[in-house]
Amino acid sequence: MSSPFTLVGVGRATSGGRGFERLRVPPPGSGVCVRCRGPMATGPNTAECWCCRAISAQLGEDGRHRPPMIAMWACRPGDDVHRLLRLYKDGPVSERRARFTAVLATALRSFVARHEACIRRAVGPVDAVAIVPSSRPGALTRDHRCHPLASVVQDVAIVAGADVVTLARGTEPAAHLRASRRAFAADGELGGRRVLMTEDTWVTGARARSAAAAVTDAGGVVVGMLVLGRAIDPTASAKAGRWWLQARRETAARPDDCGLQASTRWAAIGDGNFSGLALPS
Ligand SMILES: [Zn+2]
Ligand SMILES: [Zn+2]
Repeated sequence: MSSPFTLVGVGRATSGGRGFERLRVPPPGSGVCVRCRGPMATGPNTAECWCCRAISAQLGEDGRHRPPMIAMWACRPGDDVHRLLRLYKDGPVSERRARFTAVLATALRSFVARHEACIRRAVGPVDAVAIVPSSRPGALTRDHRCHPLASVVQDVAIVAGADVVTLARGTEPAAHLRASRRAFAADGELGGRRVLMTEDTWVTGARARSAAAAVTDAGGVVVGMLVLGRAIDPTASAKAGRWWLQARRETAARPDDCGLQASTRWAAIGDGNFSGLALPS
């Protein structure tokens, strides 16, 4: 099967950019946050990274409900995945936006098809899908079925036939590491419906978790977070660098491991010997 990315031309993949790596995201474990699957300090009494705990506090959550994260790719600022996930909605040329949206739809359909059993085991039945609204000023339209991510997910098997929960802007902003239960509001009661949140790029999760809080407050049950790109800056800290190298090494060994399988185990990041690998710059 040829890669959909050979026809993308997202950017400078072959001419000086950071190139395109379809890295998988490590499963929760040593050095990996159980909630967001991002890097965290290893040590006793910590299951979640600092960001996730801070956001739980901002949302007034006790942190016990942790919907599993299903993450298609890892990405980092400036790489082609990261650019693709921005340009499909923010790119200046509509023809290219449509092309990037089609590329993402193809990739997600394929990912979900290959991992349908893992995902169904992780999230259980899904009644509805909620698209995390874009934070771009002016990007919020009255009907979020217009969000391009809605067209990306609409015929993914696990949500085929599910309703789309519409989230409108609330009374407070949600920004980087600033979550709010009032950032978004669902239109109508959800009455125990099982909702899969869907987000294009997860950085700290403040926006996605604010949206999840709005779903919960409307009576929905958030069963999982489907994330196309789990963004990590490997230069941000030593643990982030180790996380990235681990993702790269494990992806090389098992290129299509979604991290949700119970049968395979990624090596613990804390145990890794990374001396033979160059830290990405
Ligand atoms: Zn976390
Ligand atoms: Zn899988």
